Parts: sequence; C-alpha cells; structure tokens
Amino acid sequence: MQRSRFRKRAKWVGSVGCAVIVTAWIATYGRISEYAHVENGTSTYIGITGGAIWCFGMPSHPGEQGGWYFGEVQDHTRTFWRPRLIPASRLDGPVIPLWIPFLILAIPTAFLWYRDRRPPRGSCQSCGYNLTGNVSGVCPECGTKT
Ligand SMILES: [Zn+2]
Repeated sequence: MQRSRFRKRAKWVGSVGCAVIVTAWIATYGRISEYAHVENGTSTYIGITGGAIWCFGMPSHPGEQGGWYFGEVQDHTRTFWRPRLIPASRLDGPVIPLWIPFLILAIPTAFLWYRDRRPPRGSCQSCGYNLTGNVSGVCPECGTKT
C-alpha cells in the first residue's frame, strides 16, 4: 500500500504543478515576471513572459541592482509557442514555452489519475483486489465487504 500512497501523492503534486504552470501563464499574459542576478558587470535574467520561461545574460546597466521585477512589457508581448532564442542583439538565451513543462507534468499525472480510477466490476471497490470466485463476501486483501 506504500506504493499506492506514493501514487496518490504524486497525482496531487502533479495536478497542483499543472495548475501553477497554467496560473503563471495567465498571470504573466502581457506582463513580465523576472529575476535578475548581477555579478561582475554581468546580469543574468530568468523570467516568464508570453507563456514561456526564458533566460539570458547581458552586461549590467550602470548601478543595476538585481532582484525581482514584475510589471508590464513593452517589447515582447507575443506568446512563445516554440522553444527558441530571443531574437535580439545581446539578448541570447533559451526560451522554453510553458506547455513543455506542462506536458512533462500533465502526462504522468493524467496516467496516475487513469490508473487510480474506480476498479472494474468483480474487483474490490476499496483496494482493487480481484474478487473473481470470492464467496465469503469479504475482500481477503483489505477486509471490505463486497
Ligand atoms: Zn479490498
């Protein structure tokens, strides 16, 4: 039963993860959420805009402080559907559309939900044990009355 408990937990973690990705997608529509790390005159940015996670590095602005930034976007308001590089000089880094991590999470989560659906007729409705030929009316695996 340890295994099924893990599956149950993984199922909910996966579902919450999918919801977080969809929420991030909606929340950053036409907006930008990014984190800047400034070190040795170089700023490394990681953020979400246009339905994608992206990352790039560029020389820091004078006096730039780094940290979280959340606001409106002027320059990249489009939605990124394909993984690609940001097509701008100096802004070079990977763009990962959110549907990629969403699918990576959603597919095994959907599979877990499918696996955990109600057991078929002739099986224990509590634990899924096959009760074919059972005459006692009690599941030998978990003790549930059938
Ligand atoms: Zn049972």
